[in-house]
Amino acid sequence: MNPPWSTPANRGGPVVAVDGPAAAGKGTLARCLADALGLPYLDTGLLYRAVGRIALDAGRDPAQPAQDIAQALLAADLQRPDLRVAEVAQAASKVAAQPAVRAALVDTQRRFALDRGAVLDGRDIGTAIFPDADVKLFITASPATRAMRRFLQMGGDSTAPDCAARLHEMEAALRARDTADASRDVAPMRAAADAHVIETDTLSAQAVLAEALRIARARLAIIRA
Ligand code: C5P
Repeated sequence: MNPPWSTPANRGGPVVAVDGPAAAGKGTLARCLADALGLPYLDTGLLYRAVGRIALDAGRDPAQPAQDIAQALLAADLQRPDLRVAEVAQAASKVAAQPAVRAALVDTQRRFALDRGAVLDGRDIGTAIFPDADVKLFITASPATRAMRRFLQMGGDSTAPDCAARLHEMEAALRARDTADASRDVAPMRAAADAHVIETDTLSAQAVLAEALRIARARLAIIRA
């Protein structure tokens, strides 16, 4: 349960939870939703990536206890330009499986939404961080679709001779991270029972945003009525 200071009645605005697997388009969607709804936006993956990055920089194995890093995390650590690389994604997934690391990052996420509400994207926002979120979305797509999107996002050339091999490698890495994130003991990635699941394989980013906004506005209208 959320602490009493972080219940819907005590928050200055609504909370929109956007969960789902890696490379499903949650980040872009959540940022656009936040803009459209006039809410602050937090990419919670950056918290785990920053902890993983700092562990790697210190020559530490990210699978080993890292709560000291999570407890000392600074806002500036989230601004580092070297968080969005594959090595850091793997490290993030390993530190994120540690209950003490997750516990150290819970309050930061809840406090972020306290003044004005927020849109947060991650893996456990609708299940563990804000089980009482006003709107819960779970954004997903097949591993093959997600690997292709990530490949193109990174400037990959779909006509290059090594395209199939690189796609295969990316898909394998996404599947491995999904499995780790969904099977860990604490706050595993899953859709909340009351989440709206949006399968995005056949949808453009604009269509996903339109559907998410339709759901969010309908939910918020019910809550305000
Ligand atoms: O979303 P992103 O790919 O940046 O997340 C990196 C990793 O951080 C995920 O694979 C997952 O292990 C972890 N994470 C998490 N809970 C969140 C956000 C991210 O466990 N709310």
